[in-house]
Amino acid sequence: MASVTWRIRNLHAGIDEPEAELRARALAAVGLSEEAVRSFRIARRSLDARRRGGRRALRFALQADVELREGARSEAFERARRRGQVVERAAAGSLRVDVVHPTLAGARVGVVGAGPAGLFAALVLARSGVAVDVIDRGAGLAARGRDVAGFLRTRVPDPESNLLYGEGGAGTYSDGKLYTRVDDPLETPILETLIAAGAPADIAVDSRAHIGTDRLHRILPELREELRRSGVRFHFGTRVLDFDSDGEPRRIRALRSSRGEFPVDAVLLATGHSARDTLRDWAARGLVIHPKPFQFGVRIEHPQELVTRARHGTGPEAASLGPAYYGLVCRAGQGLPAAHSFCMCPGGQIVASVSAPGFLCTNGMSNSRHSSAWANAALVVTLGPPEYGEGAFAGVEFQERMEAAFFEAGGSDYRAPAQRAPDFLAGRASSGELRSSYKLGAASGRIDALLPERVRDALRRALLHFDRQIPGFAGPEGLLVGVEARSSGPVRLPRVDETRRALGFANLVPVGEGAGYAGGIMSAAIDGARSAQRLLEIGVS
Ligand SMILES: Cc1cc2nc3c(=O)[nH]c(=O)nc-3n(C[C@H](O)[C@H](O)[C@H](O)COP(=O)(O)OP(=O)(O)OC[C@H]3O[C@@H](n4cnc5c(N)ncnc54)[C@H](O)[C@@H]3O)c2cc1C
Repeated sequence: MASVTWRIRNLHAGIDEPEAELRARALAAVGLSEEAVRSFRIARRSLDARRRGGRRALRFALQADVELREGARSEAFERARRRGQVVERAAAGSLRVDVVHPTLAGARVGVVGAGPAGLFAALVLARSGVAVDVIDRGAGLAARGRDVAGFLRTRVPDPESNLLYGEGGAGTYSDGKLYTRVDDPLETPILETLIAAGAPADIAVDSRAHIGTDRLHRILPELREELRRSGVRFHFGTRVLDFDSDGEPRRIRALRSSRGEFPVDAVLLATGHSARDTLRDWAARGLVIHPKPFQFGVRIEHPQELVTRARHGTGPEAASLGPAYYGLVCRAGQGLPAAHSFCMCPGGQIVASVSAPGFLCTNGMSNSRHSSAWANAALVVTLGPPEYGEGAFAGVEFQERMEAAFFEAGGSDYRAPAQRAPDFLAGRASSGELRSSYKLGAASGRIDALLPERVRDALRRALLHFDRQIPGFAGPEGLLVGVEARSSGPVRLPRVDETRRALGFANLVPVGEGAGYAGGIMSAAIDGARSAQRLLEIGVS
């Protein structure tokens, strides 16, 4: 019988505390002796920078996994279980299926999109012995890099190969943060796959794990080669247009693309949330799409030094911790919605998350060392149909209106409207040089006038609130840059619960962020992998 792993929670350690001391304290806290333990490892580590008793006291919050010898569970251990300090750890999941449903024997599956959802779906299918075509409208990594550089040079975006489209999907030029709020059994094998492809081993432990754009660009080719060795065929520069189908429920027989037809027995649709054209075309062909709430706001940028000083202080411990992170929340109040920071990139840069000409959208990325002098994050509120109207594409249309307005306000050349925080609060344009990491240039603009009033007021309230936690956050060194319209997707493609099939389809499974089931790299990878497993287990009808 496989041995049970127990997770010990609520542990703390000093910044420099040796692991042996922590181990002794952790075991004592849950009534275990050294002799009782077969294995012990730190499973999660995060920096706790909260003030306690009015004083800064940096420490690590930790969780540890232990395996016990036969009959080693003491009375004190059982008490620790009852008070929740120890919980049984779910066994790690697997990225393959042992028995494939007979309806998929010898099948060929089309995966549309080579982002994290599509790639990890393909991995599960291929490791389970099923033939896979991964089709992506964007270019493979090297050519995509040239296209992104071309956009920065010419200010003319390539609508097929850009920061959002191409090998690795939207996260390829990112901070590569791997945080997820779901404690999912597939997280471990996904992290192990990334580590085997070259990611640092501590991503398995660090609760603020990030890979960084530079390392992602070394990992993706390794992942691609593993997939190729398992028989996956990649088709970059190939936009899927629509499909041939028959029957009731409809069965997709072939995908039609800009480079011809792909015969398929099943399809995983993993297009991400920027492929508005594809979603509209497939909706016109009967794919059911619902609107869903999504996050909307601006980026805010500060000198990293301002953030690090506020979070880590200036003591000797701060030096070993590197650039500081923040995650800030301002609850709803005074008739205004909640606002929060999102996707914070320490030592990063603001980028133009642009996939179609005439629309401007910001996001953030960084390299593995977080080495730039800037800290940026999205500052967002959640909007839903009450704010942007009814209809499947009402949220998309709202995004498009906002992105077009910011594009125009920036000078119609992908400079981004920018406003210092005090000017945003006071409702006036900023004057003088606006320094930012945004390579295409910050142009003084009235972000306060471009945003819907309710969003503006919620962000103003949040800025003042956050300034109490990070002094200077709403000061002249805080620069708002916009617009941050795609922090999450505005639609959901409803799935039949158990099978995950799209409504009315026998062999179509929508996955990832574009389908409304993920909000980041890790959650997209988990959704793609789990959906592929379901498909293999349940088959097609
Ligand atoms: C700049 C930036 C930074 C980010 N930073 C982080 C971060 O640090 N951490 C984090 O967790 N998340 C981050 N995100 C979000 C994260 O990248 C996404 O949540 C994630 O990539 C979604 O994965 P996905 O596979 O669902 O879709 P995507 O990654 O969007 O992939 C979809 C793919 O489908 C392809 N496609 C679309 N339509 C078609 C079609 N018709 N035919 C063929 N192919 C098509 C696209 O070319 C694309 O490659 C960031 C996003 C951006 C833009």
